[in-house]
Amino acid sequence: MPASSRPIDVPRYVLDIISDLRAHGHQAFLVGGAVRDALLGQVPKDWDVATSATPDQVETILGGRAIPTGKRFGTISVIVPVEEQPRDARQEVRDTVQKTSANVVEVTTFRSDGVYSDGRRPDMVIFSASLEEDLARRDFAINAIAYDPATGRIIDPHGGARDIARRRIACVGDPGERFREDALRMLRAVRLAAELDFDIADESKSAIKANVHLVRNVSNERIRAELDRILVSGGVRIGLELLQETGLLKEIIPELEETVGMRQGPNHIYTVWNHTIEAVARIEPILRLRLAALLHDVGKPKTFSREETGEIRFYRHEAVGKEIARGVLRRLGYPSAIIERVSSLVAYHMFLFDKTSSDRAVRKLVAKLGLDFIHDLAKLRKADREATGTMNGVGNNMAFFLQRVEEVLARGNILSVRDLAIDGDDVKQVLGIPPGPEVGRVLQNLLDIVMEDPALNERETLLSLVAGQAQGPPGSDARLSHDMRTQEA
Ligand code: ATP
Ligand code: MG
Repeated sequence: MPASSRPIDVPRYVLDIISDLRAHGHQAFLVGGAVRDALLGQVPKDWDVATSATPDQVETILGGRAIPTGKRFGTISVIVPVEEQPRDARQEVRDTVQKTSANVVEVTTFRSDGVYSDGRRPDMVIFSASLEEDLARRDFAINAIAYDPATGRIIDPHGGARDIARRRIACVGDPGERFREDALRMLRAVRLAAELDFDIADESKSAIKANVHLVRNVSNERIRAELDRILVSGGVRIGLELLQETGLLKEIIPELEETVGMRQGPNHIYTVWNHTIEAVARIEPILRLRLAALLHDVGKPKTFSREETGEIRFYRHEAVGKEIARGVLRRLGYPSAIIERVSSLVAYHMFLFDKTSSDRAVRKLVAKLGLDFIHDLAKLRKADREATGTMNGVGNNMAFFLQRVEEVLARGNILSVRDLAIDGDDVKQVLGIPPGPEVGRVLQNLLDIVMEDPALNERETLLSLVAGQAQGPPGSDARLSHDMRTQEA
C-alpha cells in the first residue's frame, strides 16, 4: 500500500500527548480524519487520539490541560498551550480566542458502541480494550485507520487506505446496519464526498436510499451542520447531486425536490434543479450566499405556468420563493440573521433598477437595503445569470445600478439622520421645543432634502433651514430648501 509507507508529519504537541499516555502503560494512536487527510496529502485540520486509557486516567495523566467535553462518550479535550503550537496556529488562536479547534486535541477512549435505540446516539458506550474494536465502530473505512507515530505503522483493518486511493467512501461493516444505528452517517457520507471529491461506494449508496427516512431522527442542528459544510465545500455540485440522488434532499428540503426535472423558458438550458446547482457552485463559498443561491428559485414549482404561446413562466416566483425560503430556513433552525438575509435575497433576485431614479431615490434604496446586501445581491444575480447556461456576467441593469450607487454615494454618503450635520439637540434649541416625535420629523425632512442635494449638508445651512421651517407653512420645507440654494449660489 503506497499510503502506509509515507510517514505522517505529526505536530510535537500531539506526539507529546501520545507519549505521555504510553509512558503510563496505555496504548495511544492517531485516528480519524487526521490520518485520512494526511494520507490524502492534505494538512489535517484537527487531531484525534484514541487510547486504551479510561477518561479518568486521561484526565489524571494530562492534568489541568484536560477538559471532559464528552466524557460520557469517552472524549477528553486537551487544550494545547499556545506556545506549543506552530507559529501560524498560534496567531490563529490569538485572533479567535479559543473558538478554533486548532488548540484542542480530542482524546477518546477505545469504544465499542452499544445499541442505538434513537438511531442517533448509542444508549451506552462500552469502553473497550482493543484498538480493533474501536476502529470497527467508526463510520467509514477511510475514517477507521490508526497511525502509530512511534513506528510509522498504519493499522487499517477495513481497507481505508485502499478506499482513499480509489477515492471512495464505504461503510465499515454492513452499510444498512450502520446507517440504521446512526442516521447522521448518511449525511456525513455525502458531506465527506463533497469535501474530498470522493464517490460513495455502490453498496453504501444503496443503503442510504433504503434508509433515507431515518434522517428524521437526526436533530436539525446536526443536519444543518452537515448541510452547511456541503454547501461551502469545493465539491458542492457532487454534494447536491448526491443529496438528490439518494433521496436525502426530499427528506430535508422537499420544496427543492419539486424543482428536479422542471423545464424552463428559452433563456435556460438547464432544469430548475440543475440551474440551482450551477448557481450555488458559481457563487462564493460563503454560507449565506450559497443558501441564497440554493433557494433563489424555490418558488418556481408553485408559480409554473404556460402562456397560450407555450412559453413557460414563473410569475412572481421571487415573492412566493421568499416565503418558502423563510419556511425552509426556520424549519432547519437557522439563526434569524441568516433567515432574514437569505429570504430577502430571494425576494430581490429579480429586482429591476429604474434607470430614471433620482439621486434621492438611489440613496433611499441604499438606506433601505444596506450596501452589503446590495453587494450580496449583485453576486447572486451574477451567479444566477451565469447558471442559465446562455448568458454571462452581471446583467446590464445590475451593473448600471451598482455604478449609480457608487457615483451617488461618492457625491454624498448620506443615508440616515445620523449623517446630518446637525442633530436633535440643535433642532430642539432652534425651535424651542421639548424632546418628542416632532424632533424626529424635522430631522427626517432635512434628510429628505439633503439626500437630493448633499451640498446642503452644512451646519449653518441646516440650522437656518430649521429656523425657516419654524415660520414657513407646514410642508413647505422642500420649497425652502430650493430657496436656500438659490440664495447661496
Ligand atoms: P472532520 O474533522 O474533517 O469533520 P473527521 O472524520 O475527523 O472529519 P469527526 O467528526 O472529527 O470527523 O470525527 C472523528 C472520527 O470519529 C471520524 O473520523 C470517525 O472515525 C469517527 N466518527 C465521527 N462521527 C461518527 C459517527 N457518526 N459514527 C461513527 N464514527 C464516527
Ligand atoms: Mg476530526
